[in-house]
Amino acid sequence: MIPVSCGEIAEAVHGELVGVDPAAVVDGAVVIDSRTAGPGGLFVALPGENVDGHDYVGAASQQGLTASLTTRPIEGSPCIVVDDTQAALGALARLIVSRLPDLTVIGLTGSSGKTSTKDLIAQLIRPYGETVSPEGSFNNEIGHPLTALQATPETKYLVAEMGARHRGDITYLCGITPPKVGLVLNVGTSHIGEFGTQDNIAVAKGEMIEAVVPGGIAVLNADDHRVAAMRSRTPEQVLTFGEAPEADVRAAGVKLDAEGRPAFTLHIGDFSEHVQLQFVGEHYVSNALAAATVAKAVGLTPEQIANGLNAATRVSAARMEVTERADGVTIINDAFNANPESTRAALKSLVAIGRARGARTWAVLGEMRELGDTSAEEHDAIGRLVVRLDVNRLLVVGEGAKPIHLGASLEGSWGNESAYVDTLAEAHEFLRGELRAGDVVLVKSSKLAKLRSLAEALLEDV
Ligand code: ATP
Ligand code: MG
Repeated sequence: MIPVSCGEIAEAVHGELVGVDPAAVVDGAVVIDSRTAGPGGLFVALPGENVDGHDYVGAASQQGLTASLTTRPIEGSPCIVVDDTQAALGALARLIVSRLPDLTVIGLTGSSGKTSTKDLIAQLIRPYGETVSPEGSFNNEIGHPLTALQATPETKYLVAEMGARHRGDITYLCGITPPKVGLVLNVGTSHIGEFGTQDNIAVAKGEMIEAVVPGGIAVLNADDHRVAAMRSRTPEQVLTFGEAPEADVRAAGVKLDAEGRPAFTLHIGDFSEHVQLQFVGEHYVSNALAAATVAKAVGLTPEQIANGLNAATRVSAARMEVTERADGVTIINDAFNANPESTRAALKSLVAIGRARGARTWAVLGEMRELGDTSAEEHDAIGRLVVRLDVNRLLVVGEGAKPIHLGASLEGSWGNESAYVDTLAEAHEFLRGELRAGDVVLVKSSKLAKLRSLAEALLEDV
């Protein structure tokens, strides 16, 4: 972290110094895991579900820390004592970001594709300026400030994924890092159990657009009417992306090759060029366009953007990760997470790949969590879609996902079969017996339904 005195930190976080010299400087890493604490650093004691960070302040202090952020004094350890350490972490990150006037913050949110798009943006812009972009999906009240704290005076761009479970979450995160460029990808149904309706989700996601700083740019999806309507929520410049003819950054003639990788003509104003993406899934066209529009917003030329898209690779694991086993079975691991939109998108890509290869296709699906009252209905609809898309075989795993199996069985007119098993182990056993060379197998569920481990186990079979 850029050097800051404990006195300045205490003032920013409304804390009290206990056993700390106000002139002592924090210039090491800010951490929440005591095992990673080091010289000059700051340990933030967070109350966890199973462990309380305060139990580790003593151990962390032994490792040369300048201080710890705590909610109570800890005997023998230098502490900055506050009411709420999580809020203090946010306030500290805000302080640091406010001292970096040349930093361009790019904030992005959406129901699906945040991490994938964050990685694409980082790949496009990193050649043009030092970029801080977290690995993985650090999009909440803890991960986000920890990411922001990595910025230094040399950092040109901070690319920050922001998630929302409640109204106000994004406003809070944007308060820590006010976005110069604010992007909303889409409004789907993740966390609809919390929000009630998709319009409520749009209200929450649109907080990103309201937070765009004066002189900044809002980037909106022209193909998603709830996102396009967010235009009215900012007086700042708006750039749009999509396949809609009015989009500022547009894809036309989208096609998938036999590997499932999309190609299209990229249009940016008068510029147009053929783009071949290096990763799988038609839904990534939207993410690529979003990243291209952000790149345009920070000043890249259309040529730089097209070259960047052609070269970009998928970074995060378990998002449409395609691996061919030695025995000729192809596994598509998309089991990082699932909601109805990302499941529909993955199924369509599965079918496109199967068709291009003349292969037998399998959908191995687990529960999509956090759908509240609509859960049974949404799972049923996915089962029916599997039939309508003519995926060849369906295996449904786990009680919560059972309506997929029932939906498929009721949809009729399908010459194929759906099977249901209760556990991941049974699913693994079943597939061992059934898979044969040439099959293409999509594995997908919400994180908590853990089909990712099934996808990984399938890859270890051969
Ligand atoms: P989380 O909320 O879990 O952090 P996220 O918004 O960061 O998710 P990713 O991790 O990029 O999203 O992708 C999650 C899932 O959504 C993956 O299965 C991915 O293939 C799928 N996905 C990615 N982009 C889109 C999109 N534009 N539309 C629908 N599904 C998508
Ligand atoms: Mg994510």
